[in-house]
Amino acid sequence: MQKNINHMVNYLKELVSIPSPSGDTEEIIRFCENLLKMHQRVEMTTTNKGALLATIRGNNDKKQRVLTAHLDTLGAMVKEIKSDGKIRLSMIGGFKWNSVEGEYCTIHTMEDENYTGTILMHQASVHVYQGVGKEKRNDQNIEIRLDEQVDSKEEVETLGINVGDFVSFDPRYQYTDSGYIKSRHLDDKASAAILLHMIEEISENELEIPYTTHFFFSNNEEIGYGANASIPHQTVEYIAVDMGAIGDGQTSTEHDVSICAKDSSGPYHLGLKNQLVRLANSNNIAYQVDIYPYYGSDASAAIRAGFDIKHGLVGPGIDASHSFERTHTDSLWNTYQLLMAYIQAPMIK
Ligand SMILES: [Zn+2]
Repeated sequence: MQKNINHMVNYLKELVSIPSPSGDTEEIIRFCENLLKMHQRVEMTTTNKGALLATIRGNNDKKQRVLTAHLDTLGAMVKEIKSDGKIRLSMIGGFKWNSVEGEYCTIHTMEDENYTGTILMHQASVHVYQGVGKEKRNDQNIEIRLDEQVDSKEEVETLGINVGDFVSFDPRYQYTDSGYIKSRHLDDKASAAILLHMIEEISENELEIPYTTHFFFSNNEEIGYGANASIPHQTVEYIAVDMGAIGDGQTSTEHDVSICAKDSSGPYHLGLKNQLVRLANSNNIAYQVDIYPYYGSDASAAIRAGFDIKHGLVGPGIDASHSFERTHTDSLWNTYQLLMAYIQAPMIK
């Protein structure tokens, strides 16, 4: 197990270190494409929307499966350059300003320059501003302090920074001796790392799989329309591999694989959910069935887009999602095992 876990964790570390807010995902998609190129069995296509589809042929090519994980993350865009040289932001994806307050960030300009800074309240200094704790964390008060000597809008523009430039948040990745992984963007790069490792295992061990299986690395999930197009028409079963949501009243943990029965979009396919539970039971995989109150996935987006598929949702449990995220290698391992059992099992009737 240790070798496999380290493989997955190394992929995860590399994935979180590549900035990829929704809308600026070319580099991370190319990274995965290059990684998978060395496996001859893997056929690859990229979509116009910029996603990567990696396919491994199975014994049955008429009925196919899709497993998807998204590589896009939360982020922001330069909204306004203020007269004092500070930068206001427009959010990409769903988060609260307080979850990025104090975070290091990078601005990516059109000419491929990167400038670092810190996301702060305008009224950050307690020695100057009374009651900063009570001020609203919103797009008016939250801004970037650039690590450049700039005091005016003009000086910022001279650097080549403009409205519309992407802003990525520092992942602050840490892997502890106790097996926890603390990092931003575990949603959903933890799942993408699992899929990369699966492809590698299938390919290197020349594993036969019963059905042609597509590994869909999507890149617009956080903004609602990830893997909801370019789904091969032979697809019967479609599993989104995405984080389990942990919190009060939730069953998901950082140690189990979460199998989602229902989220805000409605119930997932009952037969597929039941099959995943049975596979977890028969393979002694630690799992939890859960319901996510405020959640949609690429699988529900595909259903909404009109695809006639059986859809499911499983993934590692991620604590404090869209905030300071954390998971444990147990959860990665259990998710990996369940998905490996699944792609080798017959389809449900
Ligand atoms: Zn996600």
